Amino acid sequence: MPYSLAEKQIEQLSNWIATYIAEQRAAFQGKAASIEGKHHRALQAFFPADVLNNVRVVRGRAPEPPFYPQLRALGIRNALPFSDMAGITFQDVTVHVEPFTLPLLFHELVHAVQYKHLGLQGFADAYVRGFLTGGSYEEIPLEKQAYELEGKFSANSAATFSVEDDVRDRIRAKRF
Ligand SMILES: [Zn+2]
Repeated sequence: MPYSLAEKQIEQLSNWIATYIAEQRAAFQGKAASIEGKHHRALQAFFPADVLNNVRVVRGRAPEPPFYPQLRALGIRNALPFSDMAGITFQDVTVHVEPFTLPLLFHELVHAVQYKHLGLQGFADAYVRGFLTGGSYEEIPLEKQAYELEGKFSANSAATFSVEDDVRDRIRAKRF
């Protein structure tokens, strides 16, 4: 079920999310390392070199966003359980709770490409609006793309495709 919030509230939410992403990126960046060689090689036919080279990964757990009580006050009761998610990407820093699998890394790197093309604020804005319009995490178009491409990769990793082209196409078609 969609949430209908006033435009001012939506902008406020986007700004909170963007601030949270920037803070978590800064907190984890120093502890994170480059993508390991075998993963880099397995993914190079799907992702642009700058993303594979720039993204840093670290095992850890992100804290619940500080504005969650305010979300509940707005009637939003199914906000994402950030601290329990298998992986989460803060722009170019991926934090993962469980040991990495290639499909999980693939999913997170799709988000890194989305950030590259939308920018931090644009990503936060599309994420919030997608959540409010669809009414749940599963309906966020940025997540749908990540799950869809991750699934395509898992089904047949020999059939290569460009994640970046797919992101560009969806931006052009205003699908986010
Ligand atoms: Zn995701």
